[in-house]
Amino acid sequence: MSEADIIYDVIIVGSGTAMNLVNPLIRQNPAIKIAVIDKDEPGGICLTRGCIPSKIMLYPAELIRSIERADELGLELQIRSVSYNKIMNRMRSLIDEEINSISEGLSNAENIDYYHSIAEFISPYTMKVNGKVIKGRMIFLTTGSRAKIPNIKGLEKTHYYTSDSIIRMEMKNLPKSLAIIGGGYIAAEFGHFFSAMGSSVTILGKNSQFLPDEEPEVSALAKKELGRYMTIYTGYQVEEVEQLPSGIKRIKAVSTVSKGTLYVEAEELLLAAGRAPNNDILKPEKGGIELTKEGWIKVNEYFETSQPNVWAFGDADGRYLFKHVANYESEVVFYNAVLKRKVKVDYHAIPHAVFTYPEIASVGMKEKVASDHYGSDNILIGFYRYEDTAKGEAMNVKDYFVKVIIKRDTMQILGAHIIGPYASILIQEIINLMYTQDRSIFPMQDAIHIHPSLSEVVQRAFGNLMSSSEYRHMLQHYFEESGIEIGQ
Ligand SMILES: Cc1cc2nc3c(=O)[nH]c(=O)nc-3n(C[C@H](O)[C@H](O)[C@H](O)COP(=O)(O)OP(=O)(O)OC[C@H]3O[C@@H](n4cnc5c(N)ncnc54)[C@H](O)[C@@H]3O)c2cc1C
Repeated sequence: MSEADIIYDVIIVGSGTAMNLVNPLIRQNPAIKIAVIDKDEPGGICLTRGCIPSKIMLYPAELIRSIERADELGLELQIRSVSYNKIMNRMRSLIDEEINSISEGLSNAENIDYYHSIAEFISPYTMKVNGKVIKGRMIFLTTGSRAKIPNIKGLEKTHYYTSDSIIRMEMKNLPKSLAIIGGGYIAAEFGHFFSAMGSSVTILGKNSQFLPDEEPEVSALAKKELGRYMTIYTGYQVEEVEQLPSGIKRIKAVSTVSKGTLYVEAEELLLAAGRAPNNDILKPEKGGIELTKEGWIKVNEYFETSQPNVWAFGDADGRYLFKHVANYESEVVFYNAVLKRKVKVDYHAIPHAVFTYPEIASVGMKEKVASDHYGSDNILIGFYRYEDTAKGEAMNVKDYFVKVIIKRDTMQILGAHIIGPYASILIQEIINLMYTQDRSIFPMQDAIHIHPSLSEVVQRAFGNLMSSSEYRHMLQHYFEESGIEIGQ
C-alpha cells in the first residue's frame, strides 16, 4: 500500500449530493477531517450544469408560450423582444453566485480540505489528488455522469454543443436553427427553450417514441404539442454529420423503421443523446471498486461498493439519474455508512418531471410494467382530462390528462402520469400517498379538494377507474378526436 501524505476520516469525490453528508458527519464527530474533491466547479452537476441552470433558462420559455396563447382568452399581448443573452447572463450570474458561496464555504470550513482537482485511486483507500497522496478510512464516490457522445461518423470534424457547453455559455448568440440529436428529456427541454427563444429547432430521436421513458400516450401528446413549435423526428438514427464550409451542420439520419434517409441542415448542433458513466478518470480498478459492464459503480441495495467502507450513490451508480433520487440515496447512505444501520434502498415511487410546455410528470410504474407484474386483469386505470374540470375549462386547455394505475385488490397506487400545466406540482399529492403505509387511493377520494382548482383533475382520475381494455377504448376515442397518434 502507498504511503499517504494525509489520512482523512472521510474522502468525498464529487461535491454535489455528497455535500448533504458533510454537516451530519461533523455533528457526529466535531473533530472529523474530511477531504472534498471535485475537478470542476463545486456544487455538482445539478447546480453547475444541470437542473438549476436549465430551469432558470426554461422559466422565461414557459412565459413566452403562455403569453402567445393569451389571445385565446381575450388578451391581446405581444412580446416585443426576447433577449437570449440577458436570459443566459441571468442564469449564469445566479449560478455563479451559488458556486462562489459553496467554494468559499468549502475553502474556509475547519473540518474540510477542499481539492479542486481530479481524484484517482492508486490503491485501495488511497488516492492521488493534486500531486498529493491521500488516504481515507471511509470514501464516498459521487462522481455523477457526463453527456454521452455518440459514435457518429464526421462528429470529430463538426462543431457541436452539449448541455454542459450551453450552460457554460459557449454559445454566444442564439442560432437561427438548431438540430438536436436525442429525443429524451434533455433534448425536449432544450428544444423547448431554443424554440421559445426564436430558433428553428429540429429534434432527431433514435427511439420510435419521443420521450421514451414516458407512457406512450403521454409521449404522443407531448410530440403533438411540442411539435407546434419544433420539428420532431422519432425513429431516426443519425449516421453521419458534416460541417459545410459555410459552417452549417448537415445531418444524415436513417429511419429505424422504413430505412428511409433524412437530411437536416442547421446552423448549430446540440448533442443530447443521454448520459454516460463518469468513472474512468477515477481509476476505480486500482481502488478495488467494481463497475457494471456499462461502467457505472456497482453497489448493492445498501450502496456498498465491492470495497468495504467505500460507498457510491447518485448518478455514479447509474440507476435513476435525478437529483431528488441522489438526495434520497444520500439519506440511506448516512444511515448505513455513518449510523451503521442496514437500511435498504426503496425505489417503489421514483418521480420525475419534464419541464416542457406542457409539463410532464410521472411516478412509479407505467401501465405495461404494472400489467406485466400483476396481470392486466389485476390493475385499474384512472383517467381524467383537465378540460373536464372547471379550472381546466377556464384555462382553455385541451387533451391534457392525469392517468393513474391502481392495484385492483388492495386499491394501492402503483403509478401516475400527468401531462399538462403544473404537472410537476399536481403529481406531488399522489407521490405523498405512495409513501403512506398502505399506499391506498382512499385519502385522495375522501379528502375535500378545493373547487375549482386543478387538483380536482387529480382527484377525479381516482374516481374514474376502469379496466385496461376500457381505458384503451376510451383513449382511442379521445385521441382520434384530437388527431393524436400513439407510437409516432
Ligand atoms: C441538462 C441537465 C438537466 C437536468 N435536470 C434535472 C432536473 O430537472 N431534475 C433532476 O432531478 N435532475 C436533473 N438532472 C440530473 C441531475 O443533475 C443529476 O442527477 C445530479 O446532479 C446527480 O448528482 P450527483 O451528486 O450524483 O453527481 P454530481 O455531484 O452532480 O456530479 C459529480 C461531480 O463529481 C465530479 N467528479 C467526477 N469524477 C471525479 C473525479 N474522478 N475527480 C474529481 N471530481 C470528479 C464532477 O466533476 C461533478 O462535479 C439534469 C442533468 C442535466 C445534465
